[in-house]
Amino acid sequence: MARYRRLLRAGALAALGLALALTWLWFPGWYRRGRTALGPAQLPAGPFAALTFDDGPRAGTTDLLLDGLARRGVHATFFVIGENVEGNEELLVRMEREGHQIGLHTFHHKSLAEVNGRDFYAEVDRLRETLQGLVDQRDFMLRPPYGMITPSNRARAGAPIILWSVDPEDWSDRDTQRQTQVILDGVEDGSIILLHDIYPASVDTALTVVDELMARGYKFVTVEELFALRGVEPQDGKEYRKLPPQG
Ligand SMILES: [Zn+2]
Repeated sequence: MARYRRLLRAGALAALGLALALTWLWFPGWYRRGRTALGPAQLPAGPFAALTFDDGPRAGTTDLLLDGLARRGVHATFFVIGENVEGNEELLVRMEREGHQIGLHTFHHKSLAEVNGRDFYAEVDRLRETLQGLVDQRDFMLRPPYGMITPSNRARAGAPIILWSVDPEDWSDRDTQRQTQVILDGVEDGSIILLHDIYPASVDTALTVVDELMARGYKFVTVEELFALRGVEPQDGKEYRKLPPQG
């Protein structure tokens, strides 16, 4: 009997090993390859785009956006404001749980072209610490309010500076149709698209853009994933507007 049990156990282990090997082979190769720095020739073809949302989170709009993104299986990046995190902690936890990336947009939406020294740390490090107390993510990319930051603050950032290449200026009106058109006209492989998840119209714009561009073959990824897919290592203090295909 003991012999049969040993044989059975060996058989079960072999089957498990085979299943693991097959899972590893079938696991979406592009993600693994993106994580290990293989040459551009081996990286998957796009087109890819990264949706980024500033100024939230905001109850009533951010959660609707998360619902819509979840239905479409799309991941985005949220550059949040510290004072909006307070009271909306569960939205941050949900973002992380659902595969979104979280980034810094200062504690009080202060221009990083104007603050310096101690005020910079109060705006950026305080938010970083707040987020570290809420989610498992440890490294946070930085989007400076208004897209402006002095060279000395870039050096202090301790994070890559993420700007954008497509901006429908969604804060200027609530015209989903116009905003959608600006994005569709401007998007290309590797675009970083700027929207704000604090306006209902912007949520509609984002979801319309996702549907339109997915129908055209686009895949939506977080900024971090976009770096990996392009085989680019993000550098602290360096500005990035888009990540087009290399070479
Ligand atoms: Zn902002």
